[in-house]
Amino acid sequence: MRQFAVIGLGRFGMSVARTLHALGYDVLAVDSSEDLVQEATQYVTHAVQADARDEETLRSLGIRNFDLVVVAIGEDIEANVLVTVILKQLGVKYVIAKAHSPLHGQVLEKIGADKVVYPERDMALRLAHNLTTSNILDYIELSPQYSIVELTAKERYHHKTLAELNLRVKEGIWVLAVKRDGTLHAGPGGEFRILPGDELILICPTNKLASL
Ligand code: ADP
Repeated sequence: MRQFAVIGLGRFGMSVARTLHALGYDVLAVDSSEDLVQEATQYVTHAVQADARDEETLRSLGIRNFDLVVVAIGEDIEANVLVTVILKQLGVKYVIAKAHSPLHGQVLEKIGADKVVYPERDMALRLAHNLTTSNILDYIELSPQYSIVELTAKERYHHKTLAELNLRVKEGIWVLAVKRDGTLHAGPGGEFRILPGDELILICPTNKLASL
C-alpha cells in the first residue's frame, strides 16, 4: 500500500490530498492552519497541524517512510524551498514540489526535488488552448517540444486509416488512442479507420498544434 503525504492544504494541496485518498491511498495532510487541517480530516487518513519548516516535527511524523511527499506550499516560497530541502535530507525518496515560476522551479530542482509541477501555468496553458482551438478538448504539455492533446478528428481525417494519414511520418504526430462512443481504442494500428465524431489522443510537436 503506497503512502502519500501532502504539505500545504491550499486549493492545490487540498485537491491533491482529497483525490489521492478518494483513489484509496493512505494520505497524511499537514498544514499550519488549524481550520484547513480541520477541513482536511474528513477527506484524508490523518491531518496534522504543524509548521513543516520544523525538521523535528517532520521526523516525528515519520515522514521518511512515505513513498511520496507533495510540497504544495504556494505563496511562501521560502517555506516551500526549505521544506523540500528538509524532506530530501530526511531521506524521502520522491518529493514533488509546486513552483510559482521557472526560476523557482530551477531552484527546487537544484536542491533535489524529484519532480517540479507548475499547476497554475499548466491550467492557464490548457485553458488558453481550449479557448483558442475549437477542436482541442484537453492538453498536457510534456516538454517545450511535445504535448499530449485530445481533439475531435478534423474532417480531413474522416474515413481514412491511420496508415493512409501517415501522421507519424508527415507531421511527427503519434496517435496514442481513439475514443469512439465511450470506448477507448488504445494503441490503434495502421488499419484503424477514423470516423466522424472520433476523439483522438495524440503526442504532437507543440509547433504543430495550431494546424490541428
Ligand atoms: P494554493 O495556491 O494552492 O491555494 P497557498 O499558498 O494559498 O496555495 O496555500 C498553501 C498552504 O500552505 C496554506 O494553507 C498555508 O497555510 C500552508 N503553509 C504555508 N507555510 C506552511 C508551513 N511552513 N508549514 C505548513 N503549512 C504551511
